[in-house]
Amino acid sequence: MEHVDASVIRQHLIDPEICIRCNTCESTCPVGAITHDERNYVVNAAACNLCMACIPPCPTGSIDNWRLMPRANPYSVEAQLGWEALPEPLGADQLAEAGAAADESAPAPVAPIAEDAFNVADYASTVPPWSAAPPARASSSALSSAGRTSQPNCASTL
Ligand code: SF4
Ligand code: SF4
Repeated sequence: MEHVDASVIRQHLIDPEICIRCNTCESTCPVGAITHDERNYVVNAAACNLCMACIPPCPTGSIDNWRLMPRANPYSVEAQLGWEALPEPLGADQLAEAGAAADESAPAPVAPIAEDAFNVADYASTVPPWSAAPPARASSSALSSAGRTSQPNCASTL
């Protein structure tokens, strides 16, 4: 059975440098975990149940950010509202100081695939068009017998 350090969570965060403040995530979240002020959109770690409903609709991907954090001390809503950028991930030492062990085996949430999501495999041909075939390369002997070389003659085009 996979070991998961219960003292660590993957905290769901929004990148304020990429977010375009479109409100899609806040209107999508079924539990009201996403809020905003005039500056940032943020996720309340205590309310977020990792359902991932907000991930596919986000047009920028800014909502798909995660940090290993001590379960007892995640970033607060107030702290996130003041961010200009996401903080760097905590190192193992910092997590240990906070009483948590860095454990990359902590399961990463996985976003569901929307039923109407575009799937290129549904539309793409498995047979490449004839025009995708690489052009046949003439051999140098064939070129020289035809009075040409394989080097382009730029002067002739001037
Ligand atoms: S959906 Fe994405 S871009 Fe829009 S407000 Fe939410 S995080 Fe920002
Ligand atoms: S993962 Fe689910 S609960 Fe968490 S913020 Fe997104 S929609 Fe809300």
